[in-house]
Amino acid sequence: MISGPQFPLPANEPELHFGTGTQAQAELRKALEQRDVVDIPTVIDGQRYFSNDVVEVRAPHDTQRLLARIHRPTEAQIQQAVASGKRVAKDWAKLTHASRATILHRAADIIATRSRMKINAATMLGQSKTVEEAEPDSACELIDFLRFNAYNAQRVYAEQPMSVATAANRADWRPLEGFVYAVSPFNFTAIGGNLTTAPAIMGNTVLWKPSEKSALANYIFFEALEEAGLPPGVINFVPGEAELTTRVALASPDLAGIHFTGSSAVFQSLWKGVASKVDSFRTIPRLVGETGGKDFVLAHASAHPSEVAIALIRGAFGYQGQKCSAASRAYIPRSLWSQVRDELRARLAELKVGDVADFSTFMGAVISEASHQKLSRVLAAAKDDSAVTFVSGGKTWSEPGYFVEPTVLEVSNPKHALMTEELFGPILSVFVYEDNAWDDTLTLIDSTSPYALTGSIFCTDRFALHQAEDVLVNAAGNLYLNDKPTGAMIGQQPFGGGRASGTNDKAGSYLNLLRWASPRVVKETYLPTREWRFGA
Ligand code: NAD
Repeated sequence: MISGPQFPLPANEPELHFGTGTQAQAELRKALEQRDVVDIPTVIDGQRYFSNDVVEVRAPHDTQRLLARIHRPTEAQIQQAVASGKRVAKDWAKLTHASRATILHRAADIIATRSRMKINAATMLGQSKTVEEAEPDSACELIDFLRFNAYNAQRVYAEQPMSVATAANRADWRPLEGFVYAVSPFNFTAIGGNLTTAPAIMGNTVLWKPSEKSALANYIFFEALEEAGLPPGVINFVPGEAELTTRVALASPDLAGIHFTGSSAVFQSLWKGVASKVDSFRTIPRLVGETGGKDFVLAHASAHPSEVAIALIRGAFGYQGQKCSAASRAYIPRSLWSQVRDELRARLAELKVGDVADFSTFMGAVISEASHQKLSRVLAAAKDDSAVTFVSGGKTWSEPGYFVEPTVLEVSNPKHALMTEELFGPILSVFVYEDNAWDDTLTLIDSTSPYALTGSIFCTDRFALHQAEDVLVNAAGNLYLNDKPTGAMIGQQPFGGGRASGTNDKAGSYLNLLRWASPRVVKETYLPTREWRFGA
C-alpha cells in the first residue's frame, strides 16, 4: 500500500576516489590499520549470542592477521531465530511502505557516511579486495541496492488492476506467509545487503546466513540496519554452519522462500531439499538463486585488439577472477590473436599482485586455502596438458597468503574443461578460431558451457553483431556489446542469468521484488444484483 512520501528515482551512489593525499585515502588507511579483533555474534531478536563454536576470519593475503571470530549458533538458536521472525512478521507486514523504506534509506546514508571506511576496510581485509574493487561493492552497490529496492517496491505497490463503473478492484501486495531464508556468498558484500532487504522491504522477515568468508563486512552492514531502526527479529543474523542452518530452515513449515546467491551446486542442493518435502510447507516456497558462470568474451575480426585485451584484463582479473561475471573463456580470431596476446603479456607483466592495503596493487589473494589448492591443481595439470599453451602467468604461492598469478592459457580444444567449468580464480582460457569460422564459433559458444550468466561481444561490424546477439540469445542474462562482461550497475543493468546460472530474477530490480509478494486481489461491488435470472 502506498501512503506517505513518494520516493524519487535514486541516482547511483558516486564512487569516492582514493588518490594520494586525499582525505578519503587517509580515512581508509586509518580503518585498515585498526587491529581490534571483532567478535561476530549471532543476533536473534536484537539479542547477541556468543558461543564456543568459533570460526576465525583471517585476511586471505596475510593469513597471520586475525580479523574476527564468528560465534556460530547452536541448532536450538537457529530454531529460536525462525520463531523470532514469526513473532514480528505481522507487525512488520502492517507497517507502511514508507516506514520500511525510511529504514533502508537511513541504512544507506549510514553506509555512505560514517560506516563507509569501516565496511570498505572490512571488505578489503576480509575478502582481499583492492580499494578499486571494494568501494564499488561494499559502499556504492550496497547503497544502491537499499535505495533502489525502496524505490522499486513503491513501483510494485502502485501496480493496480483496473476498476470499472460497477466495482472497485485492488491488489493488496501481501508479503509471503512465512519467512525468507537468505544465503549470501563471499564475493560481494553488497549481495548480502540485497538478499535480505529485498524481501524485507516487501514486508517479509528474513533468516540471514552470511558466508563465513564475508561475515565481518556483512556484520557491519547488519549493525547499520540496526542503527537505522530495523525492528529486532525482522532480519536475524545467523552465521551458522551451512548445512545445519539449512536443515533447520527447511524443517520449518513456515519457510516461504529462499533468496540465494552462490554456486550452482549449492543452489541445486537447496532446490532438491525443498522439492523433497514440498508437502511439508504451508506455502510452496519461492526459490530465487543467482549462481555460477563461465562468462565469455567474443572478439570479431572487426574489433580493436587493444580494446579486447584491456577488457580481458579487467574482466578476467578484477577481484582475482572471483566474480560470477568474470571473463573466463575468450574466443579470438586468428587475425587478431598475436596483437591481443602481446598486449595481454605486456600489461600483465606490469600488474601487481599482493597486499590490498598497498593502493597500487591490482590483485589480492584468492579467498581461501581450498580455493588456492584447487587453482594450483588446475595450473599444475595444465602444464602437463598438450592441449594447453601458457601465454602468461601460472605461478601460485602461499606466503603470506593465498596468491595466484593472473594466468592466460591458450586452449586448442574448445570443449576442454578449462573452457567449460567455473574455476572462480584468475585464470582466463582462450580459444583462437579461424576468421572464416565465425558462424560455427557462435554455435560453439552457445553450446560449450552449462552456464548463461554474462558475455561480451567486441565487434564493429553491425551485421555480424546483430547475428551474434541473435545466435547467443540464451547464452547470457547480461550481454555486453563492446564492453567487458563485469561491473553491472543497479538500475542500469539488472543482473542475473539463465540455464545453470540461476532463476534470472534480476537483482536490484522490481522483477526480483515481485518474487517476495503474494498479491491478494479484492473486488468490491457497489450494488450487488438482486436478480437471479441471467439476461433479465
Ligand atoms: P558457495 O555456494 O560456496 O556459498 C554461498 C553460500 O552458500 C554461503 O553462505 C555458504 O556458506 C552457503 N553454503 C555452502 N554450502 C551450503 C550448503 N550445503 N547448504 C546451504 N548453504 C550452503 O559460493 P561462494 O563461494 O560464496 O560464492 C561463489 C559462487 O557464487 C560462484 O559460483 C559465483 O559464480 C556465484 N555468484 C553468483 C552471483 C550471481 O549473481 N549470479 C553473484 C555472486 C556470486
